[in-house]
Amino acid sequence: MARAPSASVINGLSVDVEDWFQVGAFENVIERGDWDSIATRVEDNVARILDLFDEAGVKGTFFTLGWVAERHKRLIRRIADAGHEIASHGYDHARVFTFDQKQFGADIRKAREILEDCSGQKVTGYRAPSFSIDARTPWAFEELAEQGYVYSSSVAPVVHDHYGWPEAPRFAFKPIEGSDLIEIPVTTALLGNRRLAAGGGGFFRVLPYAFSRWAIRQVNQQEGKPAVFYFHPWEVDPDQPRVENAPLRSKFRHYTNLDKMADKLGLLVREFQWDRMDALAQAEIEAAMPLDRAA
Ligand SMILES: [Zn+2]
Repeated sequence: MARAPSASVINGLSVDVEDWFQVGAFENVIERGDWDSIATRVEDNVARILDLFDEAGVKGTFFTLGWVAERHKRLIRRIADAGHEIASHGYDHARVFTFDQKQFGADIRKAREILEDCSGQKVTGYRAPSFSIDARTPWAFEELAEQGYVYSSSVAPVVHDHYGWPEAPRFAFKPIEGSDLIEIPVTTALLGNRRLAAGGGGFFRVLPYAFSRWAIRQVNQQEGKPAVFYFHPWEVDPDQPRVENAPLRSKFRHYTNLDKMADKLGLLVREFQWDRMDALAQAEIEAAMPLDRAA
């Protein structure tokens, strides 16, 4: 079968590994202190994703919570043994802007030690919970660089009600002078001058697949840039328990089209070329501009 022209661009594929009750949308109705008493579904859901990636012959990055890794050590080893990258999603999904630099440093150090211990791999990448590195947290990149991280994929350069740094560059940039640390933002597509979130999450699930196809083609073909896509294990789990007392809008975003997600992902991973985020970071390091010169 002939490949589409966009097949020459290699995109970054990522999974944010957290359980169904750990998502930002439910943080006001499910207490962190109760997490250990809730039935976990993350192992079965990740197993489904590993099969899906395996069938399509793609490798990706699993940004994993330290909290999850501590309790599912064999799962982390299984992901790593399948050739995927284990990277950090922080310890327990606290957003970066709720920390000061010292607390943030402690959080990413703790998560990384657990992840390296479980996976037997060196952890070089980080994704902030809910894309919470933004204009309020200039110290976050300094801390990541100081701790020897190679890349971050923690910025959503778009207007959104829960997160976003709308003025940030749309493609890989170097946030700190004199450091090779690069930030690879999650993908947005341009419609005129407007940035549309196009790198996964609720948008991928709620909107028709044709939107994501258009957006990623646009980025690959018109702009000649790689896309960064992310999703969560709970998104391939239509049978997960329903959180009835969550806000209506959160419930809509969380539960719409869960039953269609696996098929949509199957199309996506076959239509475009994908690789681990550390490979993408390596490929982008030369092109990444310093923050003050990046557009
Ligand atoms: Zn997350």
